[in-house]
Amino acid sequence: MAFSNKKRQELRQALLSWYNENARDLPWRHTRDPYRIWISEVMLQQTRVAVVIDRYRQFLERFPTIRVLARSRESAVLAAWSGLGYYRRARNLRSAAKVVVRDHKGAMPSSADALRKLAGIGRYTAAAIASIAFDEPVAVVDGNVERVLARLHCRQLAGEQRWSTSQELLDLERPGDFNQAMMELGATVCIPANPRCSDCPIRKFCRTRGRGKVHGRKPRQHRREIAYLLVRRGKSVLLVRRAADHGLMPNMWELPETQLRKNNVKPIIFSLSHSITTTNYKVHVVGPRTRSARSDRDSGTWVNMARVSDIPLTGLARKILRRAEII
Ligand code: SF4
Repeated sequence: MAFSNKKRQELRQALLSWYNENARDLPWRHTRDPYRIWISEVMLQQTRVAVVIDRYRQFLERFPTIRVLARSRESAVLAAWSGLGYYRRARNLRSAAKVVVRDHKGAMPSSADALRKLAGIGRYTAAAIASIAFDEPVAVVDGNVERVLARLHCRQLAGEQRWSTSQELLDLERPGDFNQAMMELGATVCIPANPRCSDCPIRKFCRTRGRGKVHGRKPRQHRREIAYLLVRRGKSVLLVRRAADHGLMPNMWELPETQLRKNNVKPIIFSLSHSITTTNYKVHVVGPRTRSARSDRDSGTWVNMARVSDIPLTGLARKILRRAEII
């Protein structure tokens, strides 16, 4: 059952007062610049806030305006994105920036509907930018908001119902703050496993107070063992570039992958763990003395180590090269 108008108003006030006092001090909360808000929203998809904070600053130092981003080379944008994963996001940012400069004289569209026409901007991102930068009264739904709404109303919401329920609650005077407050509540108080209901500013409106479970199983994690070759020659290191039509991270640079066979001499230099979506990789980095490694050396490009951090590396390659103290 929906809340009465009076209850909704009280809830909005309670949540916004809490947000005023408790919002985390994040760099993108100091701006109404739609370009900067857009960059933060795209980075925050699939990436933790703690990681995004530094990367957001670095990215904006390198691409301070949408015009700079629009005229940049794709390899430079991918290099700045390196380690954040899901590189399609970076390519879409650059494509959309070009369209904004070409068709909108460099000014980001101010409505969610117009923003959604740009590459990589879906319903959530469009609503977030439009409400935060332009005060458009349009609600967001992400995983955090969905969980708060489900617990608040004591029912699982699906499809369009999530959006209409979020829109009903939205504060029309401060839509950007309200959206951020809902997400902040989900991220810090109404957390998935054990919601901190005693600290919750809207507990008196909540129909479950933590007793309602968010259903759905976590996807199963798989394990895989892989090996990469680390070979240096003078001031260079051997790297390979993924093909332009590679389904995953095309044109990105990485170390040559190699095989670890049982009867090989295996000069493992170090091993590390790396997770990509539902797979946990045990990654062995081997030196050039294995038989298989010799044949791997036949392909690849010698890249000067001083230049390595300027080229677009896969997240795993960056991790390995950092551990090897090459970058
Ligand atoms: S009272 Fe508990 S379950 Fe309800 S919204 Fe607040 S933190 Fe979530």
